[in-house]
Amino acid sequence: MRDGTKRPEVQTYHVWTIGCQMNRADSDRLEGALVQLGLKPTPSPRDADVVVLNSCVVRQSAEDRVVGMLTSLKPIKSRHPQRIVALMGCMVGPKADGLRDRFPYVDVFLRPQDYHPLLDLLGDRLGFDAEGCLETLTPPRASVAELVPVIHGCDRFCTFCIIPYRRGRQRSRPISEVVREVELLAARGVREVTLLGQTVDAYGHDLPDRPDLAHLLGAVHQVEGLERIRFLTSHPSEMTQRIIDAVASLDKVCEHCNLPFQAGDDDVLRAMRRDYTADDYRRLVERIRARVPEASIATDVIVGFPGESDIAFHRTLQMLEEVRFDKVHVAAYSERPGTIAARKLPDDVPNQEKRRRLDEVEALQERLLTEANARLLGTAQEVLVQGRKKGKWWGRTRGDKLVFLEDPRSLLGKTVRVQVQKTSAWSLQGEAVA
Ligand code: SF4
Repeated sequence: MRDGTKRPEVQTYHVWTIGCQMNRADSDRLEGALVQLGLKPTPSPRDADVVVLNSCVVRQSAEDRVVGMLTSLKPIKSRHPQRIVALMGCMVGPKADGLRDRFPYVDVFLRPQDYHPLLDLLGDRLGFDAEGCLETLTPPRASVAELVPVIHGCDRFCTFCIIPYRRGRQRSRPISEVVREVELLAARGVREVTLLGQTVDAYGHDLPDRPDLAHLLGAVHQVEGLERIRFLTSHPSEMTQRIIDAVASLDKVCEHCNLPFQAGDDDVLRAMRRDYTADDYRRLVERIRARVPEASIATDVIVGFPGESDIAFHRTLQMLEEVRFDKVHVAAYSERPGTIAARKLPDDVPNQEKRRRLDEVEALQERLLTEANARLLGTAQEVLVQGRKKGKWWGRTRGDKLVFLEDPRSLLGKTVRVQVQKTSAWSLQGEAVA
């Protein structure tokens, strides 16, 4: 210790994460820092010297779970006051005063990606200077496919979304820094990276010389040992022809994009402050499919947004029928305090009706995917094997379809051709072929 006093024991950590891939990536990097500081993971928060909750407030249900976890930590903290409880992520705004009053037993509050307050506290407890240990942080346990944040924050302020207020304005990481991180990951056996951002296709607009996502894809494509590159989430208004051309021309870039349309009705889109119309979106999908015919497209949809009439909702169903997405994440609108919608738009669709619309979207999507996947029967798909579950290997196609296969060989991290023998709405099954 710097001051010669007795060193308190801080040996183990537990990181609990909820929410989007960006949160997962943040947690992985924080874990990378904790491991560098000599801490070891422990599976239960009850046994951890440091407990970090990485929070999400995008939906009320997520926030409720965070509050439940925080509440369950209170008795542990009062029994073991030397333990450190940290709250990280989107629940922590620029001012944490309200949270400090609500959860006085939390030692430290960290905004998304701002690991310093916790690392500084640990530095004090352990007697070293944590400064400088944040460079090229990578996950402590690299798996076959990893997430790499490339742009933080968002400048778009969709009326329903809290993210710009919690994650701040857009900040892109320089290309050289991203490439360095991907090189480190590839050297540790990572075969696939997903470049992450809230609006990943706005990448680079805030950097000197204004590189774009196409430049970044080109640079990451050069990394030796890497096999596949994905990127998410894209905003329809930021998806340029240059990015589409990069997907078409760079072998390692998978023919897949996540392109939320959110609603099929122009009035609802305007109220959401999405700056495109339903027809703009259709034309964009046409352009993508013209250049990348095998492109698989995932999307996000919100049902029950303020003012969404029955007719407006049917326009969403119509979009789903027409475009035939490969994956749909659907959510019922829930008012988020602090957003423009919460301030200005009455939450006027009853909960029961929101639930009904959500069920209708899910049922439609299940039917469409059952049909689409059935057409893959007998085809051979390129699958990157990422793990093993219930005695079967699992992996993903370039188009992000989940595939299971039985094979006695060790296939982890290998790319195999799989002949599809069975399909459902959610996955494919088959066997490896030469
Ligand atoms: S683009 Fe809209 S929905 Fe996406 S993070 Fe930004 S504000 Fe939220």
